[in-house]
Amino acid sequence: MKQYIGAHISVGKGYEDMVDRAVAMGANTFAFFLRNPRGGSARALDEDDLAKAYEKLKKHEFGPLVAHAPYTMNPAGNKESVLAFADIAMSEDLDRLEYLPDSYYNFHPGSHVGQGIEKGITLISEYLKRMLDRPLKSTVLLETMAGKGTEVGSSFAELATIIKNVDRDENLGVCLDTCHIHEAGYDLQDIDGVLQEFDAVIGLQYLKAIHLNDSKNPRGARKDRHELLGEGEIGWDSIISVLTHPKLRHLPFVLETPQKTEKGYGNEIAELRKRSAN
Ligand code: FE
Ligand code: FE
Ligand code: ZN
Repeated sequence: MKQYIGAHISVGKGYEDMVDRAVAMGANTFAFFLRNPRGGSARALDEDDLAKAYEKLKKHEFGPLVAHAPYTMNPAGNKESVLAFADIAMSEDLDRLEYLPDSYYNFHPGSHVGQGIEKGITLISEYLKRMLDRPLKSTVLLETMAGKGTEVGSSFAELATIIKNVDRDENLGVCLDTCHIHEAGYDLQDIDGVLQEFDAVIGLQYLKAIHLNDSKNPRGARKDRHELLGEGEIGWDSIISVLTHPKLRHLPFVLETPQKTEKGYGNEIAELRKRSAN
């Protein structure tokens, strides 16, 4: 079985160009921003470009894409303008994703900025109810977080509460980031144990995508600093045990390692395919 492996790539000249560059790096999935990640508005709609991109994705048998919401989006914020931006950004991004059916839309649940974890969870749950109150071809994914500052979502229990509150299973899931859960304190040397816990607390059926990253910090550091695969505190053995785990093999794996070039990502993807023999 050929696994779906890719990296985060820049939009560049458009969607079709993005697929071409993903193919060139040996990827068969990828992550991308639908707008400037530091904020700003969506790119102009080019239906022709999106249709061509979608055709190429089918032709090259890509797995689901994992779009990433802007980093500045915070539905657990305490300012009107911040909350308004979160609503506009996700609504517009989900509209755009309708042109690339069956994609995932991954977002950082948010930071409660001192309002408390419970208030944060309530705000995020209400937000998702608003965002998902319509038919959608994509699925929104809550990303597991490192627990930096006042981030919500660094424990499986917090994500489980949000999912239960929203009660909209068809369009809601989880993206597990290996760097983040390691820094949140989970032990990737015991991947079976981590997945058992995930299953008991959230349910493995909600796990839809993996961000495969190494970490610059020891377990539990809660700082969120990504590292190149095999060069950090997680290490190759745990990285490969995640990639090849029978309960995870079918998922899209996306690298967000600090590579400076797409060629660098290409090498990392090739290394993963070699080490896992697929
Ligand atoms: Fe992320
Ligand atoms: Fe991530
Ligand atoms: Zn991160």
